[in-house]
Parts: sequence; C-alpha cells; structure tokens
Amino acid sequence: MKTERLSLSQGFSESSIKRSAEILNNDGIVAIPTETVYGLAASAYSQSAVEKIFLAKGRPQDNPLIVHISRLDMLEDITSDFSDIAKRCADAFWPGPFTMVLKRGERIPKSVSAGLDTVAVRMPSDNIARQVIEASGLPLAAPSANISGAPSPTSAAHVLNDLDGKIDAVIMGNDCGVGVESTVVSLCTNPPRLLRPGGVTVEQLKEVIPNLVIDPAVLAQPKSDEKVASPGMKYKHYAPKTETVLVSGDSEAYISFINTKSDSLAICFDDEYESIKTQKIAYGDKNNEETFAKNLFSVLRKADDYNVKTVYIHSPSKQGVGLAVYNRLIRAASFKEIIL
Ligand code: AMP
Ligand code: MG
Repeated sequence: MKTERLSLSQGFSESSIKRSAEILNNDGIVAIPTETVYGLAASAYSQSAVEKIFLAKGRPQDNPLIVHISRLDMLEDITSDFSDIAKRCADAFWPGPFTMVLKRGERIPKSVSAGLDTVAVRMPSDNIARQVIEASGLPLAAPSANISGAPSPTSAAHVLNDLDGKIDAVIMGNDCGVGVESTVVSLCTNPPRLLRPGGVTVEQLKEVIPNLVIDPAVLAQPKSDEKVASPGMKYKHYAPKTETVLVSGDSEAYISFINTKSDSLAICFDDEYESIKTQKIAYGDKNNEETFAKNLFSVLRKADDYNVKTVYIHSPSKQGVGLAVYNRLIRAASFKEIIL
C-alpha cells in the first residue's frame, strides 16, 4: 500500500484534514499528531478498521486501545457510566494528556478494548487531532503510531520510519510537545488506580483524586503469571535494539561509571555531556522534566545508530513528568537497573 503524506503547509491544511476524515470514514487508518505522541487512528465504531491497527503495528491482541474524542457529548455512545469522579477528572484534565478507563458502551466493539468490558477514553488538546476527530464525526481508537515494542513516535518522520507502506496516510504535523504518552487512570476500580504515568502528573491527579492508588506495575516488573490491570504494562516496550541499562545515581557517580565503559553509548543530561569520554547523547536538563520527556523517544530511536554493545541511560528524577519517563526507561531497559 502507498502511504499518503498529508501536508499541513500553508494552503494544504484544510484538504489534508478532509482527506483524513474521508479515509477514516472508509475504515482506513491514518497517523495523526497529538500533544503526547503520534497516534495511529481508526474509527472506534468499526471492528475491521480497528483490526487494521493491530495488524499494521504487530500489536498483541490483548493490548487495548484508547478512544479519542473532541466533545463530551461523544461519550454517550462510548460509556454507559460517566460518574461524578469521571466528570471532575474531565473538568480538570481535558483536553489534555489524560486517559480514563470507564465501563464500555455497546457501540464500541470488543476488539477496541481487547475483550475487556471497560474502555479507555481521552480528549486530546492538539488542534490537528481535534480537527480530524471533528471532521470525521467519529471517536477515534488510536494507539501510538509505531511498530509494537519500538520507542513511540514523536515526529512524522518516526511514523514513516516504522509504518511507511503499512498505513493509508500520515499527517505531516509538528513534533509532539509533551513527548510521552497520556496518563491512564482506571475509574472502574475503587479506589481509582493509576495504570500508567504520563503527561498529567501524580501531583496534579491527587488534587482531584486524593485516594488514588498507584498500580505496582508502574515502577516494577509484573511477574510473568500475574494478571495486570493495564495489559500494555507487561510488554517490553520503548526499547532500542541495542542492550539498554538504566543507571541511577548523582551526576558525579554516573560520569565516573560511564567513563570506565568502552563500547558503550551514554544517554546523559545536558550538564554531564562535556565530562563524558564515551559516545554520548544528551536528553535534556535534569532539573526540568519537561525537557527530557520531550526528547526521550527520539533519543531512544537514535541509540541504535551508534553500533555499540550497551547503552547506559542516566536515570531521571521521578518528580512530575519524570515518573512517566522513568516508567518508559525501565521498560526500555527490560528492568535492568544499576544503582550506584
Ligand atoms: P498506547 O495505545 O500505546 O498509548 O497504549 C494504551 C495503554 O492504555 C496500554 O498500556 C493499555 O494497556 C492501556 N489501556 C487501554 N485500554 C485499557 C482498558 N480498558 N483497561 C486498562 N488499560 C487500558
Ligand atoms: Mg504504545
């Protein structure tokens, strides 16, 4: 299949949005920019369109998708139970990088939720994503637009690198601003449960959901026979092909450690870069979580270009959006972590 490149350059934007809507209404799949990462969108009402997403990504059948909406009234067909706490969360965090898991309504095919009787829903803030939802008139099921297991895509180039020839179209938008996926909270459990940290931080969540609990799989490896609340958390994910290890400790300890390693790539913070003697990439300011969240996936994608035996990533602070970065990195490293 030929993947159409839909330009957003001046004069093209309107026709590109229209074309995406047309493809989506014909059960096709289109990669769209959002504020978190690029999503691979299909009509959430169409079983056959949703199946194309799983096929293109090589996504395990038991890993459910997030449904994206642009208006609250779209929820009527998606969930049968929009509770008070769900309303408060929507007020506080929508539109934005926040996903809630609710009871699944009848119009949503089981395959969207991988057979579960719940459905994950998000209202993105990205202007292009919202325009595509509006123009199509459909809620859009959209996981990250990468090959399953690879680092998520934060640019149109990342999407094409993984999925060119496997999807109908990609909107050639800007790089994503947040850089990590949405925060996922289940409101189907009592108390509500954080399943995946993301763009909305735990500190922000607790203001609206004081009794929030954090699922143990956020920070640790689920046992192989354990039933996980969020199926996506049990998979190796976000990983470069090269062996990857997370290294925790202060800057001085990390620099001394990495300078004893040959045949390795350091993924370090900006202020450590000059002192490191191996090959190296900096991924942001260690005191400003937003900077390294935004760069995280493009840096993980670059790691394989260096042809080294091991990538040693300096572990971030778990404050703010740093927790989401840590959650992705520990999976990228298959839970291999050295504590200095
Ligand atoms: P992605 O589409 O790559 O952003 O991944 C979606 C994430 O949301 C995965 O970690 C899923 O396990 C999680 N998710 C989606 N739907 C549900 C659901 N109904 N219940 C629990 N987790 C869900
Ligand atoms: Mg994903």
